[in-house]
Amino acid sequence: MNTPSRRRILTTALAFGLVGCGRQQSDESIVGTVPPTGSSVADGKQALERLRLGNARFVAAQEQDLDEGIARRIAVSKGQHPFATILGCVDSRVPIELVFDQGLGDLVVVRSAGGALDQSVIGSLEFGVAELHTPLLLVLGHQRCGALDATIKALDRPTAHPGKLGYLVDTLAPAVRQISGKPGDRLTNAVHVNVTHVLAELRRSPVIAPLEQSGKLQLAGAYYELDTGKVTLET
Ligand SMILES: [Zn+2]
Repeated sequence: MNTPSRRRILTTALAFGLVGCGRQQSDESIVGTVPPTGSSVADGKQALERLRLGNARFVAAQEQDLDEGIARRIAVSKGQHPFATILGCVDSRVPIELVFDQGLGDLVVVRSAGGALDQSVIGSLEFGVAELHTPLLLVLGHQRCGALDATIKALDRPTAHPGKLGYLVDTLAPAVRQISGKPGDRLTNAVHVNVTHVLAELRRSPVIAPLEQSGKLQLAGAYYELDTGKVTLET
């Protein structure tokens, strides 16, 4: 964490006029020797802690570890050891690596609108935990999720959706139906209920369930607040 990021080094280099000025300079010379950021973690607890620290940097706008530079790219080109598999929404305001201040090779990220599960999404998550051996599988919901909002509206007033949008609504609907009668904001409730629902569905996977039962994998849910950038673990 004490190692300056490529971005910071590059910023410094720009400030000192080391870049440009009509002559080409290799990025490698600017980067220097940036160590890989994807060092392994022992278990899901450590993975969660690493995500927590990264999110704290993101919230404070003090990103240090994000590294997408040449040195890092070369370091991970021969293999990968990501430490967490994360399912998030496609929402443009919730880019997973940025939210957790992680770089190349750190995370297996699967995104679908509302975190909707289908066979490809589940298979991709299974790939992350079983083939890439991440000790953590995190399901990340977020504030004001448009996909879940659309599903609430569709359940209130059934409409025909073009393309595969209807499939998406149908997939998210079982979780959204569970908010019926609950006090509080419906959309916020839907996001939380959906995370719980997705985790329960994932625990039915014949790949994921045994890994969790053996203690090799931890499953967790979390909530991203758009207003603050903060990620909070679901209890
Ligand atoms: Zn969303």
